[in-house]
Amino acid sequence: MNRPRIIAATVLFALLGALVPIASVAYATWSRATDAEHDRLQVTAERTLLRAHRAYETGLVALRRLNQSTLPPCSPEHLQLMRSLTLGTRSAEQIGYFEDGRLRCTSWGMMDNHVPEPTPDHITADGAGITLDVHPIAGDGTALIAVKLDRYDILMDPERFVDVITDPNVRLAVASPDGRLIAQQAILDQQLLQRLLREPHSGMDGHTLYATAQDQEWLAIATAPRTDLIASFRQQFRQFIPLGVLGALAAVGGVVWLSRRRLSLPAELATAVRRREFFMHYQPIIELDTGICIGAESLVRWARPDGTQARPDLFIPLAEEHGLIDALTDQVIERVIEDMRDLLVQDRSVHIAINLSASDVSSGRALKVLTRQLAGTDIHPQQIWLEATERGFIDVQRARNTLAVARRAGHCVAIDDFGVGYSSLQYLQQLPLDALKIDKSFIDAIGTDSATSPVTSHIIDMAKTLGLSIVAEGIETPAQLAYLQARQVDFGQGWLFSRPLPPDAFIAFHHQRLQQYGKAPENMQNPNNAVED
Ligand code: C2E
Ligand code: CA
Ligand code: CA
Repeated sequence: MNRPRIIAATVLFALLGALVPIASVAYATWSRATDAEHDRLQVTAERTLLRAHRAYETGLVALRRLNQSTLPPCSPEHLQLMRSLTLGTRSAEQIGYFEDGRLRCTSWGMMDNHVPEPTPDHITADGAGITLDVHPIAGDGTALIAVKLDRYDILMDPERFVDVITDPNVRLAVASPDGRLIAQQAILDQQLLQRLLREPHSGMDGHTLYATAQDQEWLAIATAPRTDLIASFRQQFRQFIPLGVLGALAAVGGVVWLSRRRLSLPAELATAVRRREFFMHYQPIIELDTGICIGAESLVRWARPDGTQARPDLFIPLAEEHGLIDALTDQVIERVIEDMRDLLVQDRSVHIAINLSASDVSSGRALKVLTRQLAGTDIHPQQIWLEATERGFIDVQRARNTLAVARRAGHCVAIDDFGVGYSSLQYLQQLPLDALKIDKSFIDAIGTDSATSPVTSHIIDMAKTLGLSIVAEGIETPAQLAYLQARQVDFGQGWLFSRPLPPDAFIAFHHQRLQQYGKAPENMQNPNNAVED
């Protein structure tokens, strides 16, 4: 990524980084406040329901007692009993005694038989009839509720049904189960009330939060204005916003830190090239049918001054982009020769593969450096293999020249990461190659039912037809190894055998393999000598 792009991405991610924590805190606070407000209303609705039920129950107790009474109807003792029960029942206004469908007497005295029995709007599970909007003759015009059981009814003040102490702004209503309003404590929004009477549920609309609670006899409704919720949200948001700001600062700081690192990476890389901060690791390459380690692939490592290691697939493209790759390749070649000279001179069967970058392939310059560096070392050119990926073959003509020169000089040339690009086949035929490295993705596919899996077998066949040696990359499991051995693939590398190793560890690994497998190839089936990077 170039500088303007990195800066644009930084600004974008910094904005996102700032927004996301604050938006998350706002969202979490809103949900919390809404949940708390809903819970509060739900509890209030349930308390109201309980209150309505208690008021009804006390009436019922009085009615049951009267129905059991054996006093002569409307006798002074009977009237006295009705009166004392009216006074002793909190929400009762009057008790009436009926005979033949007419009110004969009430707690206040005899009646002249004109008042008919009320028609109940609703029969409760206890068998009591409930009639709403009853206006007694002696009343003050307030509509009362009549609860009638057998021969008696009790008139009750509906206000008692919603007699609950609540938070300010909360409004309550109680209705019969068929949706007839019995009482409300302060007037509720009529549209909302009608909606809830028709279809009781809890929720929130543009202005109001509401909750309902219901049993067989009663429906209780509690509402509160949204302004309460917003006030509670604001208060909590003020409390939690420092967390959001901290998160935002951390995110923005992280983004800026990462992008500064990214922006300073080319400069850091240039310094690293100047200070020669690179060194090599060597990943053993194994001859699959003997188990012997026949060489290694050299892999560059960069130890940054801050103690971290950057990945080569990150800094190699960066070095190419910023014109540092030539100097880097020179150091790689120097390092490889310095590290491996003794081993290569002692054991002519060993080779070391060097990775060439795209520009190394197209310019051919690295080859001249290599030839110069090898001069006088007694290393045979055959002992240095060169690996090139398709990215280096974009200018096929120049690539062909470089590879031809390399082969003439005695080096073995391998196409790296084979199968990953689009036009691999075309290169296979046009370029002077000795070996083909099957990319790890095809090795990973072995034994799986992925779409890639059958391709591995075709690549092996193709390489054989073209007379190329095959190196399988990234072997991690004995099953992959068994498959490759069965398909007579020549060489392999991967964590199953060993991770990339520092020079001394690689030399030790090579000697140990030679001792172990040098004379007894059949031991090969159990390669459990993997050494950590
Ligand atoms: P590559 O040439 O394909 O190298 C193989 C990569 O696969 C290495 O990663 C190696 O550590 C890793 N590897 C090997 N066996 C296994 C395995 O069993 N499992 C897994 N998961 N990984 C395995 P590394 O060292 O990070 O190198 C990455 C790439 O950087 C190389 O890919 C190569 O393209 C480039 N590179 C490395 N060294 C050099 C160099 O000296 N010069 C140039 N031009 N490029 C280099
Ligand atoms: Ca390679
Ligand atoms: Ca590779």
